[in-house]
Amino acid sequence: MSVAWMNPNAITAITIHCAATPRGRNVKAATISKWDTAKFGQASYHYVIELDGNVVQTLRHDQRGAHVGGKNSGNIGICYVGGVEADAKTAADTRTAPQRESMALLLQALRVQFPKAKILGHRDWSPDVNANGRIDKFEWLKNCPCFEVADLVKELAL
Ligand SMILES: [Zn+2]
Repeated sequence: MSVAWMNPNAITAITIHCAATPRGRNVKAATISKWDTAKFGQASYHYVIELDGNVVQTLRHDQRGAHVGGKNSGNIGICYVGGVEADAKTAADTRTAPQRESMALLLQALRVQFPKAKILGHRDWSPDVNANGRIDKFEWLKNCPCFEVADLVKELAL
């Protein structure tokens, strides 16, 4: 993890994504960065969590990601490998036990470094169409990261 000192207020959000790769397909962080570089000219995420729980840092914290349209400043992106069923289209929380463990450890470490950052799922950036103060399922622009990040934040007391 990037340990160089950084103003803790420079990071206002931490956003969790899935790679939208099929359940069980062992795609590596380097491959995801290669795909993103072809599409966006750079790695999209700051961290990629591989199936075996290995966490690969793909951008430094002071580098801007490319993972939430128009909302990448001060926004750390974390992507886990998986997110769809083996059919490659049905959204699913495919996180392995090691991925869950690593995600928890990574979020806890980032929380220490950036105490005020909101921790969100990609879909939580969708517009609040009916302005009821929460992003409901019908408002999601996409399923990513295919699980409820708010529940995880609560569970880990982040
Ligand atoms: Zn996403």
